[in-house]
Amino acid sequence: MPELPEVETIRRDLCASARGRRIASVEVLNRGSVRGGSPAEFSRALAGRRLAGFRRRGKYLIADLDSGRSLVVHLKMTGVLQLQKPDDSPPRAARIIFSFAGGGRLAFSDQRKFGFVQLVDDPDILPALGKLGPEPLAPSFTARSLEKRIRGRMAPIKPLLLDQSVVAGLGNIYACEALHRAGIKPQRPASSLSGKEIAGLHRSIRGVLKSAIRARGSSVDTYRDGRGKSGWFQVSHRVYGRQGGKCRLCGCAIVRETLRGRGTYWCPGCQH
Ligand SMILES: [Zn+2]
Repeated sequence: MPELPEVETIRRDLCASARGRRIASVEVLNRGSVRGGSPAEFSRALAGRRLAGFRRRGKYLIADLDSGRSLVVHLKMTGVLQLQKPDDSPPRAARIIFSFAGGGRLAFSDQRKFGFVQLVDDPDILPALGKLGPEPLAPSFTARSLEKRIRGRMAPIKPLLLDQSVVAGLGNIYACEALHRAGIKPQRPASSLSGKEIAGLHRSIRGVLKSAIRARGSSVDTYRDGRGKSGWFQVSHRVYGRQGGKCRLCGCAIVRETLRGRGTYWCPGCQH
């Protein structure tokens, strides 16, 4: 599932190649991929509009239009946004095609169809976005703000990191990777973390997200960037998807276990 680094990579690709482009027409191939209105209304409202800019909040991508409205996109499990040249054939799992005036298109494809696109007047008033916690790469996300949100919580730390109201944009990959970098066992109750450990975790979250953005994300299943290419951060994963492999720090075998319903990867040698 695309997490913050993957959505941010796509955002940057769209900024570079789609900002300022005018949408000539929209073809909705899967009705369920459009939220809040009929496909016909959706297509009508977008035709002729220019893409003014692209923002990201957590795992949401927001395309601002020159009409003042915005397109909110969530890729969920398998969503992909891809810029295409006029001669490219549309992706196999294409659900919505935005054709640009002057040629080319932006294709939203989604094998498992959990992703969606929604046209809104103001994304900031969407309840789902209002509930999001701090942006981990913003200056306002500090060790202290993380501590405030997890202090006294008896839940294991790892599912808390997946809770988008604690910190926005982390998913299973980067929660596992940040905990390994911080040397913290995923099962530890959040309330048992010392101030020093929380500061280390805060540093690890930011560090791993920045490294992953530099590597254009992790392509573990369907993820592709805005140009249709794979990211390469998966080769730097220390624990995620490496069960049975040796820890690069201590040589112990990486373990996979289920924690609150999610596959959780960690090293018994260096996470305590
Ligand atoms: Zn280790």
